[in-house]
Amino acid sequence: MDHDDAAADAIGGQNADRPTEDPVAAEARALLAEIEAELGAVSAALDRLEAGSYGTCEICGAPIADGVLATDPSASRCPSHP
Ligand SMILES: [Zn+2]
Repeated sequence: MDHDDAAADAIGGQNADRPTEDPVAAEARALLAEIEAELGAVSAALDRLEAGSYGTCEICGAPIADGVLATDPSASRCPSHP
């Protein structure tokens, strides 16, 4: 039954890769989440641009300062609403 044991070990070895995540993979996953969040903010900004509400605060409706938009082009509210 040695051959069967070896086969079982090989299968167990493949499954064992999952629980302990590679630190590089974890870092890549975190970076990907960050990029996806940024992409979502930019996509929302493009939607506002198309709707004609870009540069207007979504909270108070006041124009967002150019300096704020220069720092964060996807800003959707003025700095007084954190
Ligand atoms: Zn505002």
